[in-house]
Order: sequence, then structure tokens, then C-alpha cells
Amino acid sequence: MDTSPFANGAAYVRGRYVPIAEASIPVTDWGFTRSDAVYDVVHVFKHGFFRLDDHLDRFIRSMAARRLKPPEDRAAIEAALHRCVALAGLADSYVAMVALRGRPRVAGSRRPADCDNHFIAYALPWIDVIPKDVQERGAHLWIASIPRVPDASVDPTVKNYQWSDLTSGLFEAHDHGFDTAILCDAQGFVTEGPGFNIFMVKDGQVLTPDRGSLQGITRKSVLELCADQGIEAKVAAIPRALIEDADEVFAATTAGGVMPVSRIGARILGNDRPGPISLALKQAYWQRHEEGWHRTPVRPLEQVAAE
Ligand code: PLP
Repeated sequence: MDTSPFANGAAYVRGRYVPIAEASIPVTDWGFTRSDAVYDVVHVFKHGFFRLDDHLDRFIRSMAARRLKPPEDRAAIEAALHRCVALAGLADSYVAMVALRGRPRVAGSRRPADCDNHFIAYALPWIDVIPKDVQERGAHLWIASIPRVPDASVDPTVKNYQWSDLTSGLFEAHDHGFDTAILCDAQGFVTEGPGFNIFMVKDGQVLTPDRGSLQGITRKSVLELCADQGIEAKVAAIPRALIEDADEVFAATTAGGVMPVSRIGARILGNDRPGPISLALKQAYWQRHEEGWHRTPVRPLEQVAAE
């Protein structure tokens, strides 16, 4: 049994490394009271980060978009991620980086610029946003009635915690006995789901929405895998009726990879099992991981502790 205090996860908060259960923020932090925070999540697979630079690039873009400036620079952020994983001793891990607005330096100030921004990192044991057994049979996906918040109000390419619409979608899905949901925008175009991008396959062509969604790193990987395998793939507007008529559907995220769907709303896809293109992409995604694709080895604890 692992008796390390970090065995359930390790966090970096206000310059200190603590066991995950001890990582906390003040209730007056705007990161909490206003969801005024941006974040990113990278995974570690067999002791290696996957596409770490892509995640750091996106995190830094998200921070700039929300004018968040924690004291740590990119190198310090990267070092904290390595050290959290090394402390937790995890081969496979869900690794989060968060920048929060913090609390105002001037008591009672309502000016975001008066706040002390700060950076948090943590590493947890691996998480799948859709459980592995559900991925195996194919997820049952509900198309939510609530529309996704407009892109012009909350930029979906800035990874954020403003999840009210996505959470409502999850409640709706679970109330109807489905595993998870996707949301359409107010114009009826497909966007994304709670924690994943969505793909559909029709007549051998792979499509993913061009709006209302995060520019997912897994989505980017899937598009690259399609190019490698000679599968035609396009980022396009997807009206709801089009995805309801798909041959195959799958979700894509850092916390789970390529995750096949076998039912969408009232439709049963194929033979109620994951489709062949979804399965081929899922297989290739993990195979490429085994081969070291975009891999950055996690630095050993002795090395990160000395940095
Ligand atoms: N869309 C949302 C809302 C997400 O939260 C996530 C990941 O957490 C994704 C899409 C997938 O992005 P990525 O592949 O970069 O993990």
C-alpha cells in the first residue's frame, strides 16, 4: 500500500506543494465567487505528458484572454506540473493548471485589476469523463434542450469553469437515462459536451463543429490521425439534424481520449456498438501514445526537487 501523503494526488498552491486533500482557496477568491479563472488539463500516460507544449500554449493564451497574470512564468508552471506528478508518483495522471483572479488587495474593491492573481496546479489519478465500460459499449448521448452560451458572451476557446449550461445538459441526460450530453447553440448547430469535443462520421467523412467549442488538443490529434490514415476530415457547421443522421459519433478529450458513442437521442447507431472508424481512431490514438507520440517524460522527483 502506498503510504505517501501524496498518494491521492499532489497540488501546488501559493508556492507550496501539499497533498491534494489540503489544497484549498479562500471563499472570497474571485476564482470561486465569479468563476473568474481559466484552466487547462493535460494527461500523463505511462510517465509521459502528452502534448504538454500544446496545453501550455493554450493555457497561456487563455490567461492572456482573461488578463490573468500569476507570478509564475511558463517555465515555473511547467516545473510545477512535473513536480506534482512526481510527488504523487502517478504513471497515469489527470494534471490540471488553473489561473485564478484571487482576492482584491484593496478591501471591497470591485476592480478585477486590484486582485492578486495566482496559479494552482494539481495531479490526480487518471480520470475518464466517460467511464471505460461505457466507452466499450459506446456512450448514450443526449442532445440537450438548453442552448450553449453564445460564443460572443463566453469565448469557448478560452478554457473556463462557466459550466452552468453544460451541467444542465448533464442533468437532462441523466434524467433521461443517458450517459452524457451535447449542446447545440441557439441557432441549432452542434457545439460540444461537458468536457469533450464531438465528432460525427457520415459516408466515410469525419466532421467536427466549427463553433461553440474548445479547440481541443484531442480534437487536433484526431484530425492529425485522420490525415495519417487517409480519412477525409473537416471542421464544419453541423446542424442538429445532420448529427442525428450520422453513421457514427464519438467524443474526444484529454480525460478519456477517443470515446465512441452508440446512441444519440432516439437513434441507435450501427448495431448499437462503437463504429469502425471510431474504433480505428481510438486504437490509433493509444497506439501512437505507446510509440511516444508528442511525449515529454515526467521529470524524476530528485530532479524537480532540486530545480
Ligand atoms: N470541450 C470542453 C468543454 C472541455 O472541457 C474539454 C476538455 O476538458 C474539451 C472540449 C476537450 O479538450 P481537450 O481535448 O483539449 O482535452
